[in-house]
Amino acid sequence: MTAVLNFNAGPAMLPPPVLAQVKEELLSYRGLGMSIMEMSHRSKEYEEINQQASNSIRRLLGLGEDYQVLFLQGGASGQFAMIPMNFLPAGQSADYLVMGTWGEKAQEEAANLGKANIAASTRSTNYSRVPEAGEICLDPKAAYIHITTNETIHGVQWHTIPQLGDRPLVADMSSDFLSRPVDGKRFDLIYAGAQKNIGPAGVVAVAIRQAFLEKANKGIPTIFRYSTHAKNNSLYNTPPSLAVYVVNLVLQWIEKQGGLKAIEETNQKKASLIYDCLDLSSGFYKGHAEPGSRSQMNITFRLPSEDLEKEFVKQAQKEGMVGLAGHRSVGGIRASTYNAVPLSACQTLADFMKTFAKRA
Ligand SMILES: *Cc1c(COP(=O)(O)O)cnc(C)c1O
Repeated sequence: MTAVLNFNAGPAMLPPPVLAQVKEELLSYRGLGMSIMEMSHRSKEYEEINQQASNSIRRLLGLGEDYQVLFLQGGASGQFAMIPMNFLPAGQSADYLVMGTWGEKAQEEAANLGKANIAASTRSTNYSRVPEAGEICLDPKAAYIHITTNETIHGVQWHTIPQLGDRPLVADMSSDFLSRPVDGKRFDLIYAGAQKNIGPAGVVAVAIRQAFLEKANKGIPTIFRYSTHAKNNSLYNTPPSLAVYVVNLVLQWIEKQGGLKAIEETNQKKASLIYDCLDLSSGFYKGHAEPGSRSQMNITFRLPSEDLEKEFVKQAQKEGMVGLAGHRSVGGIRASTYNAVPLSACQTLADFMKTFAKRA
């Protein structure tokens, strides 16, 4: 085994016990003589996985039977389109709160299909913070309000979910899904691409309130209707069964850690190790996000020069740490510290950062 310390932004690190179990069961799932990839998605084995995974998400988010949990394809980007297709009727508009690249993309996609207002944007700060209450301009008749709870590229996160009135609330939680306790009932629709925090690429988890589902537009293609997937329990067409199987194992792992409160405590400790390093470096490391908006999942910062940033990434790699280069659109350094990344990896990174700053 030559495991690295994996700070990738997505696809990202998975819990080692999950990978060990996948390996163990890969050739013969429960002694059936074939892998999960090779059996029908209508088999009772797969149906059990599908059911367990959706129950687990419902439990972790505190959702009742009035919510459906779906496993769909097309990634979070597919949801950018499916949400307005279903919930943005002609003659109405939706409100988008934008604090980074993903929210920007979600709003642009909705604007391709209908009227999508930018109800707030922190673009003028280069997405260094969440919008302040006074900057948010909501339409009392909006079909829905869309937020991104954590912006993966800029490293900006809502520390508490804002109070935005009584319009239906839709959230892209791709990069902080199940990283902390969240009152799921405040949302009408939550979606998250699995490859950041809960599994491999290829599946997006959606939790949707039944009453919201019933308001969906008619006349859209069958495959793009939430109701199609809800009615068929995510088995309308062939699901990404291997990905859902791994997601189910990750969800069991989360519950075994003690649930979201315990997960959050560890995530806080991990992020603090690295943010403390920035704050105590006398300006050598400059965090991108303002302190009140710092992400606990994606920690973004700059060094005094691009040459030093390249050197930082190179030396870190030599010491076994990978995935630290910032997103190609913003540069700098980004350490993604999703649920599966252990505290010890963050400690190693923090120690490396101190030594690097001293040597430079
Ligand atoms: C990664 C990411 C996306 C895009 O996910 P895909 O599955 O690649 O479509 C959307 N939103 C957020 C917040 C993300 O982190």
